[in-house]
Amino acid sequence: MPHELPSLPYDYAALEPVIDTQTMKLHHDMHHGAYVKNLNAALEKYPNLQSKKVEELLRDLNAIPEDIRTTVRNNGGGHMNHSMFWKIMKANAGGEPTGPIAKLIQQTFGTFNDFKTRFNEAGVKQFGSGWVWLAGKPDGSVHILSTPNQDNPISQGLFPILGNDVWEHAYYLKYNNRRPEYLAAWWNLANWEEINKRLEIFQSHREPAMATK
Ligand code: MN
Repeated sequence: MPHELPSLPYDYAALEPVIDTQTMKLHHDMHHGAYVKNLNAALEKYPNLQSKKVEELLRDLNAIPEDIRTTVRNNGGGHMNHSMFWKIMKANAGGEPTGPIAKLIQQTFGTFNDFKTRFNEAGVKQFGSGWVWLAGKPDGSVHILSTPNQDNPISQGLFPILGNDVWEHAYYLKYNNRRPEYLAAWWNLANWEEINKRLEIFQSHREPAMATK
């Protein structure tokens, strides 16, 4: 199988109390697992696409055969988004950003609190399922955006620096319908070291194809 479900870099319980153990199990094993399985199944008919990285598939969706395009968009997106998501979180993390991301946030948004407020608002306003992102543009600037479903900014030529999952499967067991509460608490998991790694790749290449490792 060309694509594999990556292991979580920590225990299912590691992100308690912000994200509960059961949500982590279901989210990683079942939801992310299904995206990988469905992506592989869609690519079975197209061996020439099986060697491509998921970011290559998503960067130019028009190049994907029409009969599997939506499946690749949804499930390839799901695979890429969650592969990033597990890594940009960590136990006992969060707090004020450090390094290059701190500087970028200050230059672009003012204070970290201003940035969080705008990011969380974009996450709250995303109607239905989707993601909220900080993404880089080819000119080197960054902005906040949300996307529906499992769409990744890479399909718009943008570089995903960090993103939060606002599908109900990400928070409903613990937060029920209180998405704003989940978005606010999530910053306590921010793995600034990993986010800085992603930012450095963006700043040195500005190339969406480099968006996953
Ligand atoms: Mn998810």
